[in-house]
Amino acid sequence: VIVSITIGVTRKSDETWTSGAIDYSPPEPKKAVDLSPLLAADPDFSRAVFEDFAYQLYAQAHRVRSDPDKLVALQPYLSQRVMDHLSVRGQAPTQVVIGTLAIERYNPPGDAHQIVVYVEATHHTSPPVYAVETWTFVRAAGTVSKPPVRARTWPCPNCGAPWQAAAERKCQHCGEDVQIGRFDWCVDWIAVRSEDKAKASLTGTVEEVGNDFPTVKSPDWSEQLAAIAKDDPEVTFDAFLQRVRLIYRRLNDAWNANDLGLVRGFVTTALRTSLQYWLDEYQHQGLRNQLTDAEIGHIDPAKVTRDKYFDAITVRIRASGCDFTTENDKLVGGSRTAKRDYTEYWTFIRSSSRRGKITTEPACPNCGAPIEISDTGDCTHCNAAVETGEFDWLLSKIEQDDNYAG
Ligand SMILES: [Zn+2]
Ligand SMILES: [Zn+2]
Repeated sequence: VIVSITIGVTRKSDETWTSGAIDYSPPEPKKAVDLSPLLAADPDFSRAVFEDFAYQLYAQAHRVRSDPDKLVALQPYLSQRVMDHLSVRGQAPTQVVIGTLAIERYNPPGDAHQIVVYVEATHHTSPPVYAVETWTFVRAAGTVSKPPVRARTWPCPNCGAPWQAAAERKCQHCGEDVQIGRFDWCVDWIAVRSEDKAKASLTGTVEEVGNDFPTVKSPDWSEQLAAIAKDDPEVTFDAFLQRVRLIYRRLNDAWNANDLGLVRGFVTTALRTSLQYWLDEYQHQGLRNQLTDAEIGHIDPAKVTRDKYFDAITVRIRASGCDFTTENDKLVGGSRTAKRDYTEYWTFIRSSSRRGKITTEPACPNCGAPIEISDTGDCTHCNAAVETGEFDWLLSKIEQDDNYAG
C-alpha cells in the first residue's frame, strides 16, 4: 500500500533529487527473470523457498560477520572470498531489517546455476547503515533442491550434520568435500552498490507512476488457476478475492496504527519485516505516514504459478486513499483530504499440499478461533504454524507498476 508508495519515493529520489531538477522519466519496463531452465533441470526448485533461504542467510551472515567463529559456521553457504569480504564490513549489526529482496538475474549453467539476488536492508549499527547489495548464489549443475525447513540451521548441505569449521571445507561427519555450490546454493560474490548513513527524506509528494499501464498478464494464469481449483475445489476466485480484501483492510489498519501485530497470520514473515523497515524509517525521521479512507476497487488476476512447495497468485489491485505524511501532526507530504488512486501487484502464496476452505474472516485457518499469533508464529489456540503458508493464502509481495515484470 503506502509502503510501496514510499518505496517509490526513495527509488525516484536518486534520479530527481541528486540532479536538482525534475528530469525523472519512467524506467524501461523490467524483464521477468526466466527461471524455466532451472525448473526444467530441478522440478523441486521453489522460488518462495529459495527467497526465504536467501533472506535468512543474508540476515544471519551480517549479524555474525565480525565474529570469526560464528561466520565460519556458515562456511558451506559462503565462499571464502565472501567470508573475507563480510569480515571487513565492520562491527556486526544487532539487527538486520530487509526492505527488499528480489531475484534480479538468473544465468543457466555452464558448470553452475547462478542467481543474483538484490537486497536493500537496514543494518542496525550505530548509526544505522542502509545497504544496497547484490549477492550471487551458485549451485552446481545437476544438483536438486532440498525440502524447505522451518527452523533454519546451517548444517552440512550433504549429510545434514551440524557443520564444524574446516580449512579444507570437508564435512567432519560425512567426509565430503563441500566445495562451493556442490550440494546446495552458496554465495560466491557480494557486490555493494551503496552503503549510506542516511536515507533519502520521506517527506514531499511523489506522483504516482503507472496507474494507466496495462496489466501485465501471464498467458497461462487461468489455466493454472483452474489446475489449483481442480486439486482443491474450495479455491474459488471469489473466495480468494474476499481474502485479498480482508488482508487489504488489515494491512491498512496495521500501518495506520503503527502496529504490525494486526497483520500476523495474513502476511509472510519476510513481508512483515519489510513493512517494519519502512515504519522504522518514518519513525527514525520523526515522521508518520497514513493512508486513510482507503478502498480497494477492481482486482485483476495477473499471474498464477505452481511449484512443488507453493502455489502463488498475483493480482493487480486498483485502490485509492488519502496518503499523507506528518511531522508532529504538521502535514509534510501528500494530502489528508484528496484521495489518490494507485495500483499495485500483490502476490499471495499457499502451500501446494494444502486443501481447504479459504478463510475470509480474521480467524485461524486451522481451528477457526479468532486470530491470535504467538511470538513463534503459531496460532495461540491450536499451535498451527499459520505464518508459513501451510494453511491459507498469505500476502508475500507488494510490487509497483513500474517495477513489476510479470
Ligand atoms: Zn556432511
Ligand atoms: Zn488455530
